[in-house]
Amino acid sequence: MRGNPDAVIVGSGPNGLAAAVTLSAAGLKVLVIEGAAEIGGGCRTQELTLPGFRHDVCSAAHPLAVASSFFQRFDLAARGVTFSRPQVEFANPLDGGRAAIVTRSVAETAARLGGDGRSYQRLLGPMARHVDDICAELLQPLRRLPAHPLVMAGYGSRGILPASTLIRRWRTPEARAIMGGAAAHSMLPLTAVPTGGIGLMLIVLAHGVGWPVITGGSARITDAMADAVITAGGTIETGRWVRSLSELPSGAAILLDVSPRSLAELSGDQLSGRYRAALGRFRYNPGVCKVDFALSGPVPWANQDCRRAGTLHLGGTFEEMAVAEAEVVAGKHPENPYVLITQPGVADPSRAPAGQQTLWAYTHVPAGSDVDVTDKIEAQIERFAPGFRDLVLARAVRTAADEEAHNPNYVGGDIAVGMQTMWQTVFRPTVQWNPYRTPIRGVYLCSSATPPVPGVHGRCGELAALTALRDTFGVREVPDIGPARLRPAAVAR
Ligand SMILES: Cc1cc2nc3c(=O)[nH]c(=O)nc-3n(C[C@H](O)[C@H](O)[C@H](O)COP(=O)(O)OP(=O)(O)OC[C@H]3O[C@@H](n4cnc5c(N)ncnc54)[C@H](O)[C@@H]3O)c2cc1C
Repeated sequence: MRGNPDAVIVGSGPNGLAAAVTLSAAGLKVLVIEGAAEIGGGCRTQELTLPGFRHDVCSAAHPLAVASSFFQRFDLAARGVTFSRPQVEFANPLDGGRAAIVTRSVAETAARLGGDGRSYQRLLGPMARHVDDICAELLQPLRRLPAHPLVMAGYGSRGILPASTLIRRWRTPEARAIMGGAAAHSMLPLTAVPTGGIGLMLIVLAHGVGWPVITGGSARITDAMADAVITAGGTIETGRWVRSLSELPSGAAILLDVSPRSLAELSGDQLSGRYRAALGRFRYNPGVCKVDFALSGPVPWANQDCRRAGTLHLGGTFEEMAVAEAEVVAGKHPENPYVLITQPGVADPSRAPAGQQTLWAYTHVPAGSDVDVTDKIEAQIERFAPGFRDLVLARAVRTAADEEAHNPNYVGGDIAVGMQTMWQTVFRPTVQWNPYRTPIRGVYLCSSATPPVPGVHGRCGELAALTALRDTFGVREVPDIGPARLRPAAVAR
């Protein structure tokens, strides 16, 4: 890069790159420094097992990317990124070949829920119709009055409840499992607030925007963002871990796509004792152990509709999943774990050689665990898909400790970078009006440890960049990040 950068972003995850895109669109000279050998952080795709099998290393299902106003304005489609849509958004197999099946249609989903169908439709129908309003509210810091008070009152009055309370309206194992499987993404006990809200949000997204995978792999998203930054004259340096803020060019605004723990480490004694103590009180989730499989064919789910699902939640009934998640929080590795699966091949055949499949699976484990729980994950898949093990050609395993070793943001293997308790949803990472500012002038936090929520939506990075633009550069307008302003690179991948 010629001359000093105006802004340095440490970390090239979707939030770091969203910050870089926003600042580049404002005409600033941007330098992104990434510690790993390749860009993308939690949004990458690699041949983890065998040649020709392209696995999403971290994020795989992308409802939040569809719903994100950042990605809508960035215009992923114009940049060659396409969503592959499964016929079934997600499914929860149950014993005996039964399953809860969630499709885009609330009515179709409700029709499979017997006596709970009408109640499901009454709860989810209005929310799914207002998905845009709900996402607009939830994909920004929850610190101002909602622009859609009626819609949010409907969502919030239910979402404030624990999942275990919300499901009391339902009797069928299928309806209850839908909520359990979605709420357990939170990594909180299902008796905790706001697990009902997290479960509801994910179900509303399934009906409202779908849970697609990315054609060719999740890395297409972060590659498109990096292309836009480079085309605008920015520089991205990989393979350089930043250990201290003092290594960075002076005079530039600094945006850190890092965990609160790393923020404290990088800042040395520049942080006030009070802020440092507040960062130290930030609470992390349990970790995950992830296994990627190369398979010789599609998973033989006993329930035929599960064979069309992009994502599956394994664990059985609501009660079984609740026990498993409580055990993890209590520091145990459950015998009968909750397992998240994506099978991108049902929507995107490009992920594996003809007729073969990739399978993405993870389960929650105690923070920092170095235990490989492949056996338990496989046993849970085998329970609902007898014969699965015969299809396995190769596996790649990452324990929770490995997750942190690959990406220091995932403290103890916590892929959400901080619990979504009610408190840490509103005050993330500390109690302050603008969560992106740090006490160090010109230094901002832009990772998923800031509002709104974890996931691939880019809003944490964008909102941090808008704060930096206002504070440091006196720019108040939101820059145009669309393809007319930030040209896509030649879109031929
Ligand atoms: C196994 C797994 C499954 C997931 N599934 C989904 C999913 O299906 N859908 C979804 O929406 N989300 C999913 N997520 C979450 C999603 O990946 C994250 O919320 C998202 O990537 C957060 O983006 P970020 O930019 O804040 O941080 P990250 O993506 O974690 O990026 C941070 C980057 O900063 C770099 N970095 C950190 N410290 C330094 C340093 N000191 N110097 C230099 N570089 C540094 C890291 O190497 C990394 O590249 C998943 C995550 C994991 C791990």
